[in-house]
Amino acid sequence: MIQTIRGTRDILPEEIALWHRIEAVASEGFRRYGFREIRTPIIEKTELFSRGVGESSDIVNKEMYTFTDRAREDRAGESITLRPECTASVVRSYIQHRMYADHSPGELTKLYYIGPMFRRERPQAGRYRQFFQVGAEVLGDSDDPAIEAEVIEMLDWFLGELKITDTTLLINSVGDATTRGDYLVGLREAIEPDLESYCEDCHHRYATNALRVFDCKNEACRALISRLPTITESLDEASREHFAQFRAHLDARGIGYTVRPEMVRGLDYYTRTAFEIVANSGLGAQNTIVGGGRYDGLSETLGGPPTKGFGFAFGLDRLVMALPESEAASRRAAAAPEIFIVSLGDEARAHAALVARELRRAGIAVLLDFSERKMKKALALADKLHARHALIIGENETASRRYGLKNLAEGTQESLAIDEIIAKFA
Ligand code: ATP
Ligand code: MG
Repeated sequence: MIQTIRGTRDILPEEIALWHRIEAVASEGFRRYGFREIRTPIIEKTELFSRGVGESSDIVNKEMYTFTDRAREDRAGESITLRPECTASVVRSYIQHRMYADHSPGELTKLYYIGPMFRRERPQAGRYRQFFQVGAEVLGDSDDPAIEAEVIEMLDWFLGELKITDTTLLINSVGDATTRGDYLVGLREAIEPDLESYCEDCHHRYATNALRVFDCKNEACRALISRLPTITESLDEASREHFAQFRAHLDARGIGYTVRPEMVRGLDYYTRTAFEIVANSGLGAQNTIVGGGRYDGLSETLGGPPTKGFGFAFGLDRLVMALPESEAASRRAAAAPEIFIVSLGDEARAHAALVARELRRAGIAVLLDFSERKMKKALALADKLHARHALIIGENETASRRYGLKNLAEGTQESLAIDEIIAKFA
């Protein structure tokens, strides 16, 4: 038997109503806040990520699915990677299509995406090798912290709409490149004496980009890391001011947050504002549902014009897990058929097909039974399929054009003509 490969999974029909719900709420939020959808390829040149996400990130270092595509005309082949995230792709597209070309000053390009990402991670609950992200990016020449607060306000609306309320917004500023240069010198000095006690990955981080030790999830390292100096004390004046304004914009919107100085985020491209939203319950160890931040300069790194950027991505897999049970149950129920037609006898069955067509054309979700079944068995099947109503069509009903609509939850039944049924479901 051939099965799914490690870290990947089938999203089965029983769960899909929850995915649809999250996607629908996200699209609605994006519509209200002026984001337009973009769909970029799942494969990109490896260089896009090694440059865009950064050589010192865990993603580029050990999590990418990369292969050489040897086209016949090109013997050397080209290195291709399954996208591990989508910000680099969106910025690539922004540059490639010169979306900035007709911008007036302060004009923003607001884009969102939904799709699968691929990382070779150790699979566990809430962590997969193919997982799904919904993300958004704001690109342009403005780095106004009000943009950041507006994006977080949209996420706040979005989580509220999904009834995911037990969450915490964590924020930090990681400064700009100059802040980081000075800070890194001191950070390395602070790590050095205990370097032996850090894990192997942290040794690599220490050598390439010491800031990344803050991403380490190893228990022993976490204890050491908690004693390291944070970037907060080293922030340059402009970043400090930017962060203060950002917090003021959140305060003005009544959005609560916790400043978490050791949160630096796992990608190299972040500058200044970084944030995460974590679920306080229900998700166990993999409890970060949203990650995002500012990435001024990413465009330049990818060969584009000077551009400011701010964005986020949330994990759909984890949001599905975080949906409260009552919300999940009502979404599953909404996806069930509204009417299951029970037809008794050949003539009734032929007529039932015409009735089904009428009802479906009026927008009602109808299931037709193609096999010969006794009433009791048919009703049991309707129940098993979670249909809310059964419509009973026998010889008499076929002749009178009035059908028995049975509410399966309440057990009540009434005799109705097709127009009356349609009116009832309108
Ligand atoms: P983590 O710290 O959990 O590894 P990350 O910092 O690598 O997260 P990002 O790259 O910021 O995550 O991605 C944003 C969101 O995408 C995460 O908050 C999470 O919800 C989701 N996500 C990331 N990696 C995975 C994965 N392997 N499986 C499922 N969801 C994921
Ligand atoms: Mg990760």
